[in-house]
Amino acid sequence: MVSKRKIGTLWVVWLLVWPTILWFSYHNYYIHIDQIFDIILFAVFMVLVSYFPLKINNYQVFFTNGISMVVFLMFGLFVEIILVQIVIVIVLINVGVRFKDSYRFPLNMLSIALVSLVSAEVFYLAGGNHGAMFYESPTQLFATVLYGLSIIFFNLVFNKIIERFFYNRRFRIFGDEDRWEFMTLLFVLPVGYVLYILYAEIGTAGIFYLGVPFVFISIIIQLLYSHQELNNYLSKTSMIGHLLTKNLLKEEVYDIFMEELKELIKTDYIRVFIEEEGELKLVRFYNFDQSMTPNKERLRKNNAFSKIVWETEEPLFFTRSKEWRDFVDPGRYKDIESVISLPIEYDNEIIGVVTVASRQKYKFEKFHVEILDILTTYLGIAIQNAKNHELTKLESSIDGLTQIYNYKYFENVISSYEENLHLNEEISHYSVILLDIDLFKQVNDTYGHEAGNEILHELASRLSVIVEDKGLLARFGGEEFAIFLPDFTAEKARKVAKEIRDNIKERNFIVQNHILDQTEPQEVAITVSIGIATYPDHCESLLELIRHADRAMYVGAKNKGRDRIALYGENE
Ligand code: GH3
Ligand code: MG
Ligand code: MG
Repeated sequence: MVSKRKIGTLWVVWLLVWPTILWFSYHNYYIHIDQIFDIILFAVFMVLVSYFPLKINNYQVFFTNGISMVVFLMFGLFVEIILVQIVIVIVLINVGVRFKDSYRFPLNMLSIALVSLVSAEVFYLAGGNHGAMFYESPTQLFATVLYGLSIIFFNLVFNKIIERFFYNRRFRIFGDEDRWEFMTLLFVLPVGYVLYILYAEIGTAGIFYLGVPFVFISIIIQLLYSHQELNNYLSKTSMIGHLLTKNLLKEEVYDIFMEELKELIKTDYIRVFIEEEGELKLVRFYNFDQSMTPNKERLRKNNAFSKIVWETEEPLFFTRSKEWRDFVDPGRYKDIESVISLPIEYDNEIIGVVTVASRQKYKFEKFHVEILDILTTYLGIAIQNAKNHELTKLESSIDGLTQIYNYKYFENVISSYEENLHLNEEISHYSVILLDIDLFKQVNDTYGHEAGNEILHELASRLSVIVEDKGLLARFGGEEFAIFLPDFTAEKARKVAKEIRDNIKERNFIVQNHILDQTEPQEVAITVSIGIATYPDHCESLLELIRHADRAMYVGAKNKGRDRIALYGENE
């Protein structure tokens, strides 16, 4: 951020210096403003050229310098400064400089006016002259080349000074872009000189002879370039698509989508919403400045872009705020201009919305919408893949009879707790309770296997109620159940065990007597034997908890006559 004090100083300096430069260049330098029509033509040509810069390998060639050079040679410093200043203002307006960044106007105007002034001095020092009749003289050619070099050189110097002292940014002394600027001189200077000769020889028509083809070539190259760019985008898009659909974890799918999209479309804001229980939930976001975090996690009632897309099921595409200001409330992101918002679809259902936005006007083109459309289609498939995968995984970890977790899942959870032990330093104790129904074979023999199953089912639901979110309950084997209790000391675990034992003892289980095919339900009384082990009291690793609880149950409870609770190492 640039401080208010600096911006204030800048405006004051601009107010004082800028008019002085104009006044000074008007009174003290060569000036020739008779051919006002030609000057206007040159101005139009400069504006057109700045609108369609030649693009080569992501770098731009602004031919404006070539034209401003001719203007300088023919009409003098004052006219050159005025035209270049007009172009700067137009370029800045076109880029869409925000009100709070409006200091960029005085900053650029001032530095470029200074560049013009200093370069003019270099031109005179080298023996340059104004007017049409000098173009054949070697001195004039030499002075013009030096003038062109000075324009680029001082531009660079002033830019570096601004980077360093105004924005407090680090910069590279002579980076790729700077080298490129100098390279383009090889092209801009000769063409500029040809324009100078043409204009000197044939006057106004010369501007057209060179100007019209030049603008057309720029437009054609730009079209070619955007075609190439589109191809580039498309191949990247399909690569991202493969990355997405290959992944089976939802969170990773979101991460990949965000990272790749950020790279592909360099923009200021990205929002990914996914539908959950009838609401849009923000699952990923990106802000250019990282400072703001979205305050609402769920979209319900506001008129934000994503919400509109979700409701209308139609994509949105805007190039500037004027197009959407009247019916969309961007919340606190008022600086947005360009917006693309698209539904994420799967099987003709909308499962979410992706919105990208930029503070720049005309940031996105139609092909961006198409590319995002392809990407969101991939995203939809990837999310669905991941959901299916997660469902299958869940199904394979649930016990069919009791609908609680099975031992495989139980062991996995304990393993992952063991792996992340160092991350949960605030948890000092972990306990495992193991429970085995006493003489369950007899129950089966008496009432039938079906009745036994009913008891197991009922027992599982009673245990679920008792365990709640204290820990993890699983069916560990036939008629054995296990409970993992993070942050439970042995004594706290014993309380839970006691509650379980009492509950089972005090309330008989109701079953159908399947063996006798009686319709009357039967009451069955059962008891359980319970073993408890606690980390770190009884073992050095969470992985040993199950084995120790099992031992406690057999040695301390079953062997001691059943229907009791035993702690590891107790009563042995
Ligand atoms: P104790 O544990 O007290 O030593 O005696 P027990 O009779 O319960 O003996 P044990 O634990 O060794 O036997 C487990 C019995 O549980 C064997 C089997 O008949 C029964 N069982 C295991 N799984 C199921 C099941 O899914 N459904 C039914 N109905 N019974 C099962
Ligand atoms: Mg058993
Ligand atoms: Mg048993």
